[in-house]
Amino acid sequence: MLAGVIKNNVIYFKSANFFKKKCYTTANMGRARILLVEDSRTQAETAKDFLEKNGYEVILAGNGKTAIKAVKTAPVDIILLDLVLPDMNGNEVCRWLKLNEDTKGIPIIMLTVKGEVTDKVAGLEAGADDYLPKPYDNVELNARIYACLRTKALQDELRQKNLQLECLLKKVEIMAVTDQLTGIYNRRQVETVLEKEFKTAIRYKTPLSCMMIDIDHFKAVNDAFGHHIGDAVLKEITKVIAETAREADTVARWGGEEFIVILPQTKKEEAMQAASRMLKAISEHNFQDIPNERLTVSIGVTSIPHLSLDIDSEEKLIQAADCALYDAKKKGRNRIESA
Ligand code: GH3
Ligand code: MG
Ligand code: MG
Ligand code: MG
Repeated sequence: MLAGVIKNNVIYFKSANFFKKKCYTTANMGRARILLVEDSRTQAETAKDFLEKNGYEVILAGNGKTAIKAVKTAPVDIILLDLVLPDMNGNEVCRWLKLNEDTKGIPIIMLTVKGEVTDKVAGLEAGADDYLPKPYDNVELNARIYACLRTKALQDELRQKNLQLECLLKKVEIMAVTDQLTGIYNRRQVETVLEKEFKTAIRYKTPLSCMMIDIDHFKAVNDAFGHHIGDAVLKEITKVIAETAREADTVARWGGEEFIVILPQTKKEEAMQAASRMLKAISEHNFQDIPNERLTVSIGVTSIPHLSLDIDSEEKLIQAADCALYDAKKKGRNRIESA
């Protein structure tokens, strides 16, 4: 899958921000927001005081339902979850949070009553990241919170780096097939497309057409308005060609001011009609940067199956379309010829 969206034969990049997600980093660990789920008011207040003195922000919840509600309402960085709660078992709360897409990444430390092996195992099975037997020592609680947050932060950072790398790779992948100026496929990519379409056409005996388009007297545009305006005009003409082509067709920049269109499952007569549409659209187009000028193109069309030529390779298909284009130029430009 590419990071770009192909619409009207033009590849649109998704911005790098698309791949950015909120990330918890080692740098902002100290100001983490803790949800303490504890039904004993005294224990809750003692732990809250201690944790707040250590720089954390603490939210209290006295039962499972309030805890789930609190997590849904505001973002939480870590949860300290009492095992025995008045409404639900702490493990059930833990399981619910770990099954939920939005909350599964939040580290959970279970506060078990006795530290019995079965309690610990049940907590870990429910998805808890750590457990701490009661009565716990505040310093140990602090150390475990720190360890959990650090692991989470490192995981987040790694995930973020992976996403950035993935984004970069996708960009490179797109750049390899895209023409930088116009944003449509480049020559290398259209050669790959044509190779595949040619094989398909031969195997299934379906028609395939190819169109070569060259802008008439384009050098005069550069000479009169400068290369910069020439580039802008090339981009605009690309848009007209891409929008006139069908979704199933592949439009690419063949080089300079030449374009190629591959039309799968298209007979010569249909390709000629498509070329006519393109010729008309371009000749009638009002270019933004050169509003008083009109541009024309010449088009060469070839199709297989061919009645007289032996076109047994994609190279020969292109050669024939090129010959037809040369013919169109010779016969006065702003016209279509076929071979
Ligand atoms: P013809 O009708 O015979 O095709 O005439 P032409 O002037 O279009 O043909 P020619 O081959 O003489 O010149 C092509 C011109 O296209 C010359 C070149 O400067 C220009 N060109 C090719 N690539 C680019 C480009 O990327 N940007 C700009 N601005 N001009 C380009
Ligand atoms: Mg309790
Ligand atoms: Mg030209
Ligand atoms: Mg040319």
